[in-house]
Amino acid sequence: MGSNPTSSAIVSLKIRVYNVEKYFLFMMRSFLLFVVLSFSLMAQARIAIVIDDMAHDMPLVNAFIDLPKEITLAFMPDSENLEILLEKAREKGHDILAHVPMEAFRDPSTLRKNLLLVGDSRETIQQKLEWHLKQVKGCIGINNHTGSAFTSSYPSMCPVMEVLKEKKLFFFDSFTFHASQGKKAADAYGVPCLIKDIFLDNNEETEKILAQLKTLEEVAKKRGTAIAIGHPKPGTLAALKSWLSETSVVVVPLSKLFKE
Ligand SMILES: [Zn+2]
Repeated sequence: MGSNPTSSAIVSLKIRVYNVEKYFLFMMRSFLLFVVLSFSLMAQARIAIVIDDMAHDMPLVNAFIDLPKEITLAFMPDSENLEILLEKAREKGHDILAHVPMEAFRDPSTLRKNLLLVGDSRETIQQKLEWHLKQVKGCIGINNHTGSAFTSSYPSMCPVMEVLKEKKLFFFDSFTFHASQGKKAADAYGVPCLIKDIFLDNNEETEKILAQLKTLEEVAKKRGTAIAIGHPKPGTLAALKSWLSETSVVVVPLSKLFKE
């Protein structure tokens, strides 16, 4: 008995349709997998930006407070009109840090009120720090203003951590010097500690700051998170506004990274 040519043509057509369907499903699945993976990678990339040296009730400083609340703001405790600035920043919903002045090896800002010095006793360091924290009410933690000498002295950093631990505050190391003992001291006292990755505006040109933000994005995409410090400068404001409007990474308040 010979096979029916019409039915074998139907069978071969069915096989072809089946293969096309299989190919189509495979392509769809691959595409969906690609979309899901891309989104999850993008979702992982998160950036925190801290603007420190916030001081004096000036238009530029106010313009930084007007940025999205995800930008973290660190205020100089000896700033004029600090209460007004803090109230605005709190109202807007920003995370607030006390930007505590610490001794540098070579630093013109030694006149800062209650500058933490390497030669200070444990009691003096703690009294000075308490004063800074009292000025910047509602802060979630501190970061150091200058401090190459102070942060690289482990015995000096320990009394700082003792206070932060007691008050359940965070330490954000501005990392102004490669030998900073901030993390080591924070770990010893169980104080949550994060470290700055990049300074945005050592060069104040907007283009250079945008390049720094690109580098920051690359670090975040590779590692999951990245943290930058910027300052209330016109170039930084212009670069941040432009970058925030187009970046694909998620900008989060610093507290979000501390809580993980
Ligand atoms: Zn500073």
